[in-house]
Amino acid sequence: MTSIDLHCHSTASDGTLTPAALVRAGAAAGLDVMAITDHDTTGGWEQAAAARPDGLRLVRGAEISCRWHGVEPGIPLHLLAYLFDPAEPLLAAELARMRADREHRGERIVAKLRADGVPITWDEVRGYAAGGSVGRPHIAQALIRAGLVRTTDEAFASAWLGARYAVPKKDLDVFEAVAAVRAAGGVAVFAHPRASKRGRVVPDELIVELADVGLFGLEADHEDHSPAERAQMRDLAGRLGLVVTGSSDFHGTHKFVALGANTTAPEVFEKIAAAATGVAVLG
Ligand code: AMP
Ligand code: FE
Ligand code: FE
Ligand code: ZN
Repeated sequence: MTSIDLHCHSTASDGTLTPAALVRAGAAAGLDVMAITDHDTTGGWEQAAAARPDGLRLVRGAEISCRWHGVEPGIPLHLLAYLFDPAEPLLAAELARMRADREHRGERIVAKLRADGVPITWDEVRGYAAGGSVGRPHIAQALIRAGLVRTTDEAFASAWLGARYAVPKKDLDVFEAVAAVRAAGGVAVFAHPRASKRGRVVPDELIVELADVGLFGLEADHEDHSPAERAQMRDLAGRLGLVVTGSSDFHGTHKFVALGANTTAPEVFEKIAAAATGVAVLG
């Protein structure tokens, strides 16, 4: 059986395995195809490609922080972008802008926490990100170190990063994101479209509109989706002519999910690979 996991994070963003360790772990877990999809960065691509074990096919991608402005305030959402050209100027500039904004926003969250006497520092948090795309899980790590919460999930409760110490990022408009990914020769898949534990989710009407402008698929099989939500996404994808993917959204020890916990069908992977013109699948 072919095992395909199209959504995995490394230390280039908020995962805890280096890109090299990630691809090795993918092979060790029995994956045949794995995608590296760090938040707003292609920073892990080179190391992952260099360390790729024989027999593991590597899809280079990213998870793009987007926002839908159809309601006020806008709803954040994530797009998985696969096999795009990382040198395409518009997309590269937007990713760089968002990484810079992640630094400002992280610093502001830490300042808010410190104003309430929480003993963590921006230097500590930045150290956990180790030059990668900084995110709230790195702040969560500092809160765990300070003994204020026990897990990343607890740090996302409303008393902490979920609401009380929330500062929005300046995400990319989702329509601009789909256009930019396509212009870079990539394929866009809507990540965990029904993950309501992270906050508000978008209506089906938006997914219909995104399908019209070139969205390629929906990540239906994701640990944050109930069986009913997976079925709804499968059904909607079928009606709109979109592919359906499944993936672990592996983050190392920042989450409990294992590599290959959810997988994508081989024919869907082949469709994604065939539709992309930015960079090739490696291996
Ligand atoms: P950020 O990218 O800085 O907005 O942080 C969001 C990231 O935190 C997500 O990509 C997840 O990897 C992680 N995370 C872990 N637990 C949660 C949670 N309960 N809600 C939202 N994000 C979470
Ligand atoms: Fe993440
Ligand atoms: Fe995500
Ligand atoms: Zn993810």
